[in-house]
Amino acid sequence: MTGAWRCEGHCVHLGQWENAFGVFAAVTTRPSGNMKDPGIFDRQVRAAGLDPHRWAGGQQVHGRRVVPVARPRIKEKGRTDGMVTQSPGLALRIFTADCIPVFLIDPVHRAIGLVHAGWRGVQKGIVTTAIQSLSRHYHSRAGEVCVAFGPHMGACCYEVGVDVASVFQGIPGAVSRSPRPEEKTKLNLSVALRSQLEKMGVRRDKIIPAPGCTVCDQKYFSYRRDRTDERQVALFAMAGGRGTVHS
Ligand SMILES: [Zn+2]
Repeated sequence: MTGAWRCEGHCVHLGQWENAFGVFAAVTTRPSGNMKDPGIFDRQVRAAGLDPHRWAGGQQVHGRRVVPVARPRIKEKGRTDGMVTQSPGLALRIFTADCIPVFLIDPVHRAIGLVHAGWRGVQKGIVTTAIQSLSRHYHSRAGEVCVAFGPHMGACCYEVGVDVASVFQGIPGAVSRSPRPEEKTKLNLSVALRSQLEKMGVRRDKIIPAPGCTVCDQKYFSYRRDRTDERQVALFAMAGGRGTVHS
């Protein structure tokens, strides 16, 4: 776990941002339960001190669509893998098992974003869309945006075939081939994401790495490890509004 992240209860918190920016930014772990269960999700939102009627999350389809969310009580935004908002107290929601939950914040214009990034979403440019959305809707400048990667399948475990490897082989460090034929090619998806973010103008020193690998670390749900339908949830909200947000 890097210094930016800390364990608290059954969640990993982006403590550095919670302290610096007055936000709630966390990802649940297995002991919190399967967050695709609406009852368990609702209990988690309340336990986090967030307003159970003020969250937004769409049907995740590994696309590149990012939608701005402004109105409270929005519960579904259709098919979308990312959301941005400037509304205090409104929580953004992404389910993951091995994909990367990407947190984005523009502290200057007080805007946040949360994105679901698997290899297909990265290939399609989901984080590029997220930076463009922050810029278009909230006048964010990429050089001022901070980014953090939540727990996901790390390069230690992300074995891929030639089809997926070929998508990312042009990005230095994203694909590693072992000289031993019995070992499979591995993908470092966060390297690919970093490359795209830096091309957009995000500063390297403003990108926080993940607290761990969902496959190696048993405290996370992992589709690759367990072929499970269960998911952890990433929640991201700015303090304020009608709900109370721990910060
Ligand atoms: Zn691993």
